[in-house]
Amino acid sequence: MKISVQLVIEPEDGQPVTAKPIAQLKCADLTVDTLGLTLAESKSILGNLQTELAQYQVTDYIDEQRICPQCDRPQSIKGHHTIVYRTLFGKLCLKSPRLYVCSCQDSDSKSISPLTRC
Ligand SMILES: [Zn+2]
Repeated sequence: MKISVQLVIEPEDGQPVTAKPIAQLKCADLTVDTLGLTLAESKSILGNLQTELAQYQVTDYIDEQRICPQCDRPQSIKGHHTIVYRTLFGKLCLKSPRLYVCSCQDSDSKSISPLTRC
């Protein structure tokens, strides 16, 4: 028997539901040693879940931050860099955009990196 573990994301804003595969497990004949998850399987599942969940959260956050809070226009992307977060389940390498500050805003900075502010 195969068992699939998925992350199902149901956005509240009417966006389509997405399912991300996290793991596929093969169940062997039941013995004391094969009951439930192994430590390696549990680490793999949590690591994959952390990666997919964090990527979804970052994408959602960046989409929100791209919109200028004053004029509602999208702020242009200047470039990308990678931010490394160390978590309980391993390192996350997140692609982080740098955004030009909208011309309607009175700011000393010409660009911002939203992920460094959260
Ligand atoms: Zn603006």
